[in-house]
Amino acid sequence: MPRISYVNGRYAPHADAYVHIEDRGYQFADAVYEVCEVAKGYIVDMGGHLDRLGRSLDELRMAWPMSRAAFEIVVREVVRRNRVTNGLVYIQVSRGVAPRDFLFPAGARPSLVVTARKVNPAINAGKAEAGIKVITVPENRWDRVDIKTVGLLPNVLAKEQAKAAGAQEAWFVDTDGNVKEGGSSNAWIVTKDGVLVTRPADHGILRGITRTTLFKVAAGLGLKIEERHFSVQEAKEAREAFISSATTIAMPVIAIDDTPIANGHPGSTVLSLRQAFFDVAEKRPA
Ligand code: PMP
Repeated sequence: MPRISYVNGRYAPHADAYVHIEDRGYQFADAVYEVCEVAKGYIVDMGGHLDRLGRSLDELRMAWPMSRAAFEIVVREVVRRNRVTNGLVYIQVSRGVAPRDFLFPAGARPSLVVTARKVNPAINAGKAEAGIKVITVPENRWDRVDIKTVGLLPNVLAKEQAKAAGAQEAWFVDTDGNVKEGGSSNAWIVTKDGVLVTRPADHGILRGITRTTLFKVAAGLGLKIEERHFSVQEAKEAREAFISSATTIAMPVIAIDDTPIANGHPGSTVLSLRQAFFDVAEKRPA
């Protein structure tokens, strides 16, 4: 069965799904995106992801490419046409196609691309069982990373650096030595007292949809959460560390810069959060 993608009003075979060379997403990274997890036939937290997409569009004074109701139909249709039961759906909106000029083009229509693909859930289950390693890198991104733009070059380079070091994620660290977030995930620790700690979602990080759902999951499990800064040193000495994102859910971190966290095995708190996540998250049939 060929993959089908949605591009500007049509469902096209994935191999023939193109945007124009003067799309502003291509030329200026003038585009925003979302990634939703698809699990057991449900699109997870779609409401939250589309709310955040709306916020990103507003912050950049970009228009919705279509009504939100129509948007939801397209997203579900792409998932359905690709028969994705477990995997992800990717949504990208750019300011549109116009002759190259820095200024916002008058009258350009936003471009919309939606793709979906299957991912074997055993891959993430295996990673969660083993735990992942992270490295730390100095923050070198702009200060509006709360907007989910496709301008991800620092993230690409940081994650490539992580891979070269035998790790799976890179944590950006601010000039005070505090952890901000990962290249494609939020960062968390669990203190010796069992308290979950994650950085406040101010302009310094992306307010992860998974992060928000995990607040509810944690409350349901009777766990305490503190939104505050934490240093790399505190993280290395923590009882547990983990990352969160739509595609990884809560994923244990077993080493930071080659320093093992606790006994170097996934912690029980993150595994219980992971276990309870799907019961709490919003689920919409594709
Ligand atoms: N921070 C960054 C930089 C990300 O790219 C992501 C993944 N989109 C996240 C955090 C986690 O966000 P979410 O839980 O909404 O996937």
